[in-house]
Amino acid sequence: MAVTILKDIPFDLGVPALLKKLRIDGRPEYAERCSRLAREAALHAHPKGAYRLAYVDSKAEDAVVVNGVTLASRILRVNLGDIHRVFPFVVTCGVELEAWSQTITDMLERFWADTIMEEALRLAFETLTADMTRRYQLGKTAMMNPGSLEDWPIEQQTGLFSLLGDASAQIGVRLTESFLMVPIKSASGLRFPTETGFENCQLCPRERCPNRRAPYDASLHARRFSAAY
Ligand code: SF4
Repeated sequence: MAVTILKDIPFDLGVPALLKKLRIDGRPEYAERCSRLAREAALHAHPKGAYRLAYVDSKAEDAVVVNGVTLASRILRVNLGDIHRVFPFVVTCGVELEAWSQTITDMLERFWADTIMEEALRLAFETLTADMTRRYQLGKTAMMNPGSLEDWPIEQQTGLFSLLGDASAQIGVRLTESFLMVPIKSASGLRFPTETGFENCQLCPRERCPNRRAPYDASLHARRFSAAY
């Protein structure tokens, strides 16, 4: 099955929402500067994404084999249950926007540019997820990401990237020696159908995380993912 590559994702950045998010909507001297920066960013922004349909070949106690690639995670294995279709993906704010951000020297504007890049990444993620859901008529899904939990460490990025072949290179995303993605405002993961639902955050005790999507559940691991399950 071919990889789907999304390179023409429209960058529709709502400037009023951006100013509000940055809490400068009531500060005209900052708002004007930031609006100018956002207009400039729009000239450079090309968020992108790539994903494919892949099949689970086999399952062990602590790993699954997908299209011949072993993904070592007990939690992923339990989450996949009897599921056979999965969707590895990578999304990015784009190398163009990252290159633009590196030309900015003012500290405050760098911070704003960082937020603009995060918005571009969010847009790429939402567009890719909607495209995948429509194309494959998916119902309820969840995702896991290498490096989000100890159980599926960041080194496993290599397996995930190999499932996508050269698609990640086609959208300008590469892995460093320490398995981080460049551009840094990129995200990768495996999406899968689920009836029970799952969020990495349910197993992550980090306090005051601004990106938390679900409350921490201290007993979930023992209830659902322990070896005795
Ligand atoms: S709580 Fe924050 S750090 Fe932990 S998994 Fe969720 S988003 Fe990641």
